[in-house]
Amino acid sequence: MDLGPGIPHNCQCGALTIVLTSGTSRNPGRKFYRCGAILGPNHVFKWFDEAQFEEFDVLASKQTMIINDLAQINKDIVELKNDLGEIIEVIEQIITKL
Ligand SMILES: [Zn+2]
Repeated sequence: MDLGPGIPHNCQCGALTIVLTSGTSRNPGRKFYRCGAILGPNHVFKWFDEAQFEEFDVLASKQTMIINDLAQINKDIVELKNDLGEIIEVIEQIITKL
């Protein structure tokens, strides 16, 4: 089952995930995400700590995209302001000729 990186919020079956704590001798006290409906090979199982580390990378990538989007929006605003200034000049010239 390919969950993708980060925190699994839903299982492929549609159920929400739940966080449980391992009671095994191999991973005592280690938290994990699991499908909230069904325990099985085709349902979510992911270690909580690994998901959290992946989530940092996911969020960092999203943050980079948002920063780039904001930079583009700022450029667009500057261009729009310049266009608006030119439009106002043209209107003022038309008004003075009337
Ligand atoms: Zn499931």
